[in-house]
Amino acid sequence: MKEFLTNYAPKELERKFEELGFEPYRARQALKWVYAKGVDDFSLMTDLPKEARAKLAERFELHPLELVEKVEAPDAVKYLFKTRDGHLVETVLLKERDHYTLCVSSQVGCNVGCSFCATALDGLLRNLSTAEIVDQYLQVRKDLGEPIRNVVFMGMGEPLANYENVRRAVELMVSPKALNLSKRRITVSTSGIIAPLKKMAKDPVMKEVNLAVSLNAPTQEKREALMPLTRLNPLPELMKVLKEYPLSPYRRITLEYVLIKDVNDSVQDAKELLKLVGKHKKKFKVNLIPFNPSPELPYERPPLERVMAFQKTLWEGGLSAFVRFSKGAEVFGACGQLRAKRKVCM
Ligand code: SF4
Repeated sequence: MKEFLTNYAPKELERKFEELGFEPYRARQALKWVYAKGVDDFSLMTDLPKEARAKLAERFELHPLELVEKVEAPDAVKYLFKTRDGHLVETVLLKERDHYTLCVSSQVGCNVGCSFCATALDGLLRNLSTAEIVDQYLQVRKDLGEPIRNVVFMGMGEPLANYENVRRAVELMVSPKALNLSKRRITVSTSGIIAPLKKMAKDPVMKEVNLAVSLNAPTQEKREALMPLTRLNPLPELMKVLKEYPLSPYRRITLEYVLIKDVNDSVQDAKELLKLVGKHKKKFKVNLIPFNPSPELPYERPPLERVMAFQKTLWEGGLSAFVRFSKGAEVFGACGQLRAKRKVCM
C-alpha cells in the first residue's frame, strides 16, 4: 500500500529517502515540488532522475482528501473534504482585507464536549493524520491559486488532543524546506488541556507559534457548565500555566470568549474575567465572539449593547478586547453545521 509523503516532516523524509536508496537532497527536491510549487504528480518533478520519479510514484501518494463540496459567502469559503475512510472534514478560508486565513481541522469530531458547539454532538471519531491536516492547506491553496498567509487550528477538533500529528503539520508549515509560512502567522487554538499545553510550552516548534485558548467563562463553575473538560483541567491551574507560558516580546496569548446571551455575557462576568487575569493583563488579549445560533443548540446571541458593555468593562480594566463576528456565519451557521447537514442528506 502507498504511503502519504506529506505525513513526513522534512528530516523524517530525508531519512525515508535514504532507506529507499536516495541521497537526502532528493527529499529536499521533492519537498520543494510538493510544498513550494504545488506539483502533485511525481512525473513532473523534473530535477529528479526518471527512475527516482517512477519509484516515488510506486511508493507514495500526495492527497489523502477528496473535495466534495464548496460553499461560498462574501467573506469566506467553506470546503468539505472526504477522507479515504469516508469521514467528512471542514476547512474554512477567510478573506481578510489583504490576505487569506485558513481555518484547518485537526480531528474528525471532537470529544471535548463544549455545550455551544455543533461538532461536539458526534463525539470524537478519530484524529486526522499529518497528511490530512496539511492537505487541507495544499488543496485550498491550489483551488484559490494564491498563497494563504495565515493558518489557524480552529476547525473541527481539539488540536492538542492530536499533539504529534498537529506538531508535524506545524513543522511542515513553518519549515523553509516545506511551506515556509511565518511562525507568527500560525495559531493553535485549544480548549485548554493542561498536560499538552505544558508540553507545548517546552516544544521548540510549537512554542514559537501563536497560542489561543478558548476560555468562554470567568469562573470554574460557569466554565464547567459550558466546557465539561474543565473538571479535569481546572480553571485556576489552566490560568497558572498560561501566566507562566514563555512568550517572546510583544506577543500575547489570545483568550477566545464566545458570548452567550444570559449565560456568560454580563458586566459581572467581565469583572470576574479581569480578576482571573489579575496583574498579567499585558500578556493576554480577549477575542469576544457573539454566539452564532444553531438550530441544534439551546443558546442565543446576546444583543449588541451587552456585547459592547462587556468589551468596555474589559478595556476599562486594562485588558485589550476585540469583538469578532464569525465570518460567513449567515451562510454556514455554527461550527460543524455544513458537515452535519451533509451527513443527514447522504
Ligand atoms: S468548540 Fe472546539 S474544542 Fe469545543 S467541542 Fe467544539 S471543536 Fe471541540
